[in-house]
Amino acid sequence: MHLKKQPNGILGETNMNTDNKNKNKYSLVCGLEIHAELKTKSKMFCGCKNDPFGAEKPNIYTCPTCLGMPGGSPVANKKAIEWTIKVGLALGCKINLFSKFDRKNYFYPDLPKAYQISQYDLPFCYDGVVETSFGPVGITRIHLEEDTGKLLHKKIDGKQVSLIDFNRSSVPLMEIVTEPDIHSPEQAKEYAKEIRKILKYLDVADCDMDQGGMRLEANTSLRSEGQKELPKYKVEVKNINSFKFMEQAIEYEIDRQTEILDKGEIPAQETRGWNSIKSITFSQRTKEDSEDYRYFPDPDLPPIRYSRESIETMRAELPELPAQKSERWNTEYGVEKRYSKQLISHEIFSNLLEESFKICQLENIEPNKLASTIVNKNIIISHETIASKIVDEFKKLSQTDEVSDDEIISAIKEVILQNNDAVIKFKSGDTKVIGFFIGQTMRKLGKKINNRKLGELLINELKK
Ligand code: MN
Ligand code: ZN
Repeated sequence: MHLKKQPNGILGETNMNTDNKNKNKYSLVCGLEIHAELKTKSKMFCGCKNDPFGAEKPNIYTCPTCLGMPGGSPVANKKAIEWTIKVGLALGCKINLFSKFDRKNYFYPDLPKAYQISQYDLPFCYDGVVETSFGPVGITRIHLEEDTGKLLHKKIDGKQVSLIDFNRSSVPLMEIVTEPDIHSPEQAKEYAKEIRKILKYLDVADCDMDQGGMRLEANTSLRSEGQKELPKYKVEVKNINSFKFMEQAIEYEIDRQTEILDKGEIPAQETRGWNSIKSITFSQRTKEDSEDYRYFPDPDLPPIRYSRESIETMRAELPELPAQKSERWNTEYGVEKRYSKQLISHEIFSNLLEESFKICQLENIEPNKLASTIVNKNIIISHETIASKIVDEFKKLSQTDEVSDDEIISAIKEVILQNNDAVIKFKSGDTKVIGFFIGQTMRKLGKKINNRKLGELLINELKK
């Protein structure tokens, strides 16, 4: 979406550092648009299950509303709105206390209503910033909209057909738009990775790029070295599904646009696609203006109001973010940022890791050594592996072997014979020795048996 808030100020120096002579003549002006599907339980405007990748069959999570039938009545998903605001706060955005949904009208087979519910002039969040090692990247806006259905083009019975799966139709989709503050392909990659990290960390999106759960778009243009104003054209490369492809697509555009500019021409304002097999971008269509979409407020959805207090409560509930945590780990535990950057992936996991740093300190081990070992030896620790470890431990604890009563009793008898002192203690009323007998009997049996059963049999024998 292209509600451009053209920057009025002077943009920072370029960080482009390349030995290519041509590339030094021009500097890149780039802004990114990132779409991420939110992992709410239900869809954006209906109660259908939001699980497009987990669905067993196409078109099972659908209803009249997300199929665009007449009479469908959308109701906004509160959680999706709160998560969008949460992300906005994490990215230092201002929040619109009065906001609304608008209809973005266009026709495409994957959009059955012929309009997408999106946000036009009053997005939930605006005016934020994300730090990168190349400099800050301004966030123009973050708005919420609905995803479209998914088109599948394939051959059935020798015929080329197009199929539509509406499981994805109306899945909550967050769009994060930046200012044209990005000046190198590397910076674009760093920024996008940081966004994915934050979304995953806040646990609002899975950002599975292979499945299309996170999609990247790069708006690129070049200006002459020293030129302060923005270029008069913009080339948008759409639907990129990997960081590497985005980097390659931007590099390709730098070369392509350089050639055109060198000829004294101006590159066409257009939308291009990325061909990952040929590693080239290709023209898709000349750019539409936002007027073409005939935006207007969706009459089915009431505007959304938030009080300043409720936003402040949400701000106070924000967890410590990856960048802040990395800073604090460095001061408190001496963990180097190059390691913490790779280790901080999820809130629960980071908390567990921090517990292990505390244990390290108690045992006089440098937490940084633990951190570097995990990173360098590529030990894969995620909250999933920790969770499965807990279940494994549980299984071990609750596992018992099949042992007959006779076998247990004969082991108990042997233990009693060998530990006369403890038997005397028990008979004089010291019940604490029971634990000792249980341990000894288990050891003798060499098997895991139900503690309670063992205890009963043991007491019987001791009382004899
Ligand atoms: Mn969009
Ligand atoms: Zn539905």
